[in-house]
Amino acid sequence: MSARERVLVATRNAGKLRELVPILEAHGWEAIGLDAAGIAERPEIESSLESGETFRENALVKAHHFHSLSGLPTLADDSGLVVDALGGEPGVHSKRWSNRPDLSGAALDAANNVRLLEALAGAATRAARYVCAAAWVDDEAEFVALGRTTGRILEVAQGAQGFGYDPLFFSDDLSASFGEVSAAEKGRVSHRGRAVAALLKKIRRGS
Ligand code: IMP
Repeated sequence: MSARERVLVATRNAGKLRELVPILEAHGWEAIGLDAAGIAERPEIESSLESGETFRENALVKAHHFHSLSGLPTLADDSGLVVDALGGEPGVHSKRWSNRPDLSGAALDAANNVRLLEALAGAATRAARYVCAAAWVDDEAEFVALGRTTGRILEVAQGAQGFGYDPLFFSDDLSASFGEVSAAEKGRVSHRGRAVAALLKKIRRGS
């Protein structure tokens, strides 16, 4: 792939873009999200792309869909929070776990966090992990890689950085919540940072 080739990052999530774009730019690519690429939002189609049973399946479906729409090399991420005491939930349902189709962005994140705290009230363990599948599709190949990071769910939110469940996720690696650290610090140990690092190795190797 030539330097400064344009790569589509198949998300409208500003938090994911803040983490993914600098990683891809550091590899010499020009990385743009769906909105910047002028790809009109089709909510029903886009939510149907995330209806699989695994992060891996959803990430690949998203990457194929947006590669065929744009013709650009495309990176898609599907990710979520896996909580032991909740039998692995919210898992692939993390984005819409609070069941509030009327909400989006920070308001949706806040509703999800309220549900998480309620669900864990009185739980014997608060162990959790974030999991991410990162998929790449271009004209010649497809690759997928997984990343995970462990921690526990706090009883009270700490920090306001990051997005989603981050202020409630206390990272084992950082001894701080993901709401308390910069995107770069988070990216060094996060599920997304690890998945993309593994994905970039596969792309470079070609297998
Ligand atoms: P996706 O767009 O289907 O991959 O949804 C991912 C959802 O999982 C997000 O909307 C968040 O609720 C949650 N999530 C995934 N990764 C993170 C993260 O790094 N921080 C906080 N929440 C995350």
